[in-house]
Amino acid sequence: MRKSRIFVGAALAIAALTLTACNTGTPGGTSTDAGGDTGGDEALWEVATDVSLEGSPTFDAMTERGGVVVGVKNDQPGLGYEDATTGERTGFDVDIARWIAASLGFSEDQIEYQTIPSANREQALVNGDIDYYVGTYSITDKRKEQIDFAGPYFITGQGLLVAADNEDINGPDDLEGKIVCSVTGSTPLQRIRDEFNPGDTVEYDTYSQCVEQLLAGSVDAITTDEAILAGYVAQRPDEIKIAGEPFSEERYGVGIPKGDTALQDHINQLFTDGGDVWQALFDQHLAPAGIAGEQPDVD
Ligand code: GLU
Repeated sequence: MRKSRIFVGAALAIAALTLTACNTGTPGGTSTDAGGDTGGDEALWEVATDVSLEGSPTFDAMTERGGVVVGVKNDQPGLGYEDATTGERTGFDVDIARWIAASLGFSEDQIEYQTIPSANREQALVNGDIDYYVGTYSITDKRKEQIDFAGPYFITGQGLLVAADNEDINGPDDLEGKIVCSVTGSTPLQRIRDEFNPGDTVEYDTYSQCVEQLLAGSVDAITTDEAILAGYVAQRPDEIKIAGEPFSEERYGVGIPKGDTALQDHINQLFTDGGDVWQALFDQHLAPAGIAGEQPDVD
């Protein structure tokens, strides 16, 4: 176990070095901020200049502040990940967040990242703690009572993660008598309780805590979106696997403050016009973990 951890660490370090190397020489590609972050993927886009977003209170706040505050995840490899040693943030969602910031005129050194778990996302937006949130955030009517979404920018589905040698669990109907781990405030936890009949459910703030429980043998399965699960499998292919087929549709949106239609329209237009950028980010971050998908139309 220890050996494979070291190996994974080395692989991630190499991946991080490659990413940094790609950005060398591009404008703004090697910046640092309070979080110690190094540049994103600026080669794919330029930081916009002379941006105006009439009627967007969120953009007005960013402009006044001279920077963007983005909510993200930090423990989801391929999507929203923070290297504990270097502080570097990587992943599809993180780069989507950077791309949006650049389209609004903000460079990497003007982005502050806040790691916010699933259960606290709506409140962070309602409180104005963050300007927008990009982190495996499914668009739901319930959430739309408090916030709005731009997108969707990705579609995945709820799945199950089990130990590599587990032959009993091949779908959500096999969970009777089993202990299933998921995250507080997430749609998969709600669905597994409402629509299926697991022996028991346990909940944590993050999916990486569930992975620790699965590796320790204290839960039988983890349930969340396959795109998230595939990132964990890519780190430990000998120890864990995805079981069965996806059994929901999770449409990922960018969480924004309620009523900011100017910001919503701006982000949707960016996605609509930016198919090449989307594809490059998908190929870089998600395809290597075996995730399939194409860019969805925005709502
Ligand atoms: N996409 C699901 C949700 O928004 C699960 C992933 C997550 O917790 O971020 O609840």
